[in-house]
Amino acid sequence: MSAAEDNLTAVLYNVNDLRLENRPIPVPKDDEVLLEMHCVGICGSDVHYLVKGAIGDFVVKEPMIMGHEASGVVAKIGKDVKNLKPGDRVAIEPGVPCRRCSFCKEGNYNLCPDIIFCATPPCHGNLTRYYAHAADFCYKLPDYLSMEEGALLEPLSVGVHACRKANVTLGSTVLITGSGPIGLVSLIAAKAMGASKVLVTDVVTQRLNLAKGFGADGVLSIRKYDTETSLAEKVKEALGGSPSVCIECSGAESSIRLSLVAVKSGGTVVLVGMGPSEVKVPLINACCREVVIKGVFRYANDYSLALDLLANGKVDIRKMITHHFSIEETIQAYDTARTGQGNPVKVMIHCNK
Ligand code: NAD
Ligand code: ZN
Repeated sequence: MSAAEDNLTAVLYNVNDLRLENRPIPVPKDDEVLLEMHCVGICGSDVHYLVKGAIGDFVVKEPMIMGHEASGVVAKIGKDVKNLKPGDRVAIEPGVPCRRCSFCKEGNYNLCPDIIFCATPPCHGNLTRYYAHAADFCYKLPDYLSMEEGALLEPLSVGVHACRKANVTLGSTVLITGSGPIGLVSLIAAKAMGASKVLVTDVVTQRLNLAKGFGADGVLSIRKYDTETSLAEKVKEALGGSPSVCIECSGAESSIRLSLVAVKSGGTVVLVGMGPSEVKVPLINACCREVVIKGVFRYANDYSLALDLLANGKVDIRKMITHHFSIEETIQAYDTARTGQGNPVKVMIHCNK
């Protein structure tokens, strides 16, 4: 790297105040690699920080570098790094836990209270040209996977984690509510894990068409005046019985209610969507039917599985990317994601020159 090399970086200073500036190129620690960043996708949470400055208790108080759905190429390695070498193309798992607490030791490192997660305040993200990351949270990409696919491993890992939590397996019948990027990756994961039928709901027809393109066995358009009882009937009809698993990916209260009502007795509802902090649900009905309700937070030990899922080549997850921008066009990229103009699904930013 020459001294003239810039490190253009996207920094969120305040609500709707996103700036591009040159930051020093980091020096990797002994167990880290320096990455030349390639692809960084924009996620709903990034847009939320831009527009609201906070998600729940996570508040942007200091300028924060954006970006966490990312891939890059190893430029330098720290002295203790054994698993990677310069030139390796990698997907970056954005959360590095403490490795010492009881959650980490149990393997539930996504619950580590001291996790450093890219672009979750106060931690910086990786929407920059050069970025240092723990080497063991970088996954070498085989030649046949693109850098875009590497970045998409992040949302895909959410889908894989949700399906594992729900014990989706051969023969499962699955209802997925919400057909945004997270609903779509849950659909991809559910099909890959052997679900026999997957039905996807949304309020937007274009989103339902995407679900069809990713192998949904059926789609259900939700209208304002639909009642959850009538919808549960339609779900049952479409799947040939009540679903054994519901994966809620919209955050909408009505979808959470539908999931609880539609799932078969003894079935599992996993809550991935994060909407209002408090919602009203028909809990006693679910309780009397022994419905298992599980929360889902990011992922743990799912990146390798997500990589394997793409490696068989059956799914072209890149179809999810509707818009491409260079890092110099970051403000436009975020405007596209924020306004929804041009019906974006996944907006991808390219950091290399
Ligand atoms: P998104 O907003 O792009 O997608 C949500 C979809 O739900 C949209 O297509 C929308 O039209 C649809 N929808 C809205 N109301 C609906 C209704 N009543 N019925 C059916 N569909 C409805 O968001 P996304 O990026 O796909 O993320 C989905 C949710 O998952 C968000 O709430 C996000 O915060 C959450 N999320 C959770 C985790 C986690 O670790 N638990 C990780 C990533 C995202
Ligand atoms: Zn920990």
